[in-house]
Amino acid sequence: MARVALVTGGTRGIGEGISLGLKEAGYTVVASYAGNDEAAAKFKEANGIEVYKFDVGDFEACQATLAKIESEVGAIDVLVNNAGITRDKPFHRMEKGHWDDVIRTNLDSLFNLTRPLIDGMRERNYGRIISISSINGQKGQFGQTNYSAAKAGLVGFSKALAQETAAKGITVNVVSPGYIATEMVRAVPKEVLDTKILPHIPVGRLGEANEIARTVVFLAAEDAGFITGSTISVNGGQYMA
Ligand code: NDP
Repeated sequence: MARVALVTGGTRGIGEGISLGLKEAGYTVVASYAGNDEAAAKFKEANGIEVYKFDVGDFEACQATLAKIESEVGAIDVLVNNAGITRDKPFHRMEKGHWDDVIRTNLDSLFNLTRPLIDGMRERNYGRIISISSINGQKGQFGQTNYSAAKAGLVGFSKALAQETAAKGITVNVVSPGYIATEMVRAVPKEVLDTKILPHIPVGRLGEANEIARTVVFLAAEDAGFITGSTISVNGGQYMA
């Protein structure tokens, strides 16, 4: 039977690419989202992938929905922590709410999703936990103290959990994208893209969501079991960690 993979924020952007990549690789994929019902319905209709709406920052909602997914679809063997937000402000103008929103969605979510699933993975002696960080968690970014902190925190989480779960057949890894051509990045004016962004990317172009998906599919594979606690950068050479 096909293994079940959950992709948080799997209905749009990079997450959509990951959902489609895992489906193509033979997984039974489930995608979650927060509130954009229209995008989720369109995604479900186009791809025949089941969608579940819940807030990854809410532990009780995660617990309840994960139990529902496991009873309706099957035990989740592959967890892709992809959902994430930005609330950019230079630190001297950052409000507590900007900080809390980003830490809650981008970092607390790792506990909220992984904790309810870890016991089952340990019992089955199998699991793949893959979290999507960012180049800005590796190098820092002006206006993103909150986001850079959360995205770097995700690496520490993964290295620690990788050690705890290695003997149980569970790998824990991180994929760290650079600039990917999602709606958000495509909305950047061409002049800014050409003068401020592309010159810093040695490959000379933006990445595509399916290039992140390819990396996730690679790490999710059964024969990737010797890779754990790793971070793979997918950034066109923009930052070599
Ligand atoms: P998008 O904004 O395109 O999509 C985000 C997805 O996450 C949506 O499905 C959204 O749901 C969901 N989501 C947001 N908040 C929550 C929440 N509280 N609970 C549940 N789901 C939530 O993001 P991207 O595709 O651009 O980014 C995906 C990941 O990749 C993020 O973690 C981001 O930080 C990271 N990243 C992105 C880069 C880029 O260039 N785009 C570069 C480096 C890293 P809904 O549709 O309902 O809003």
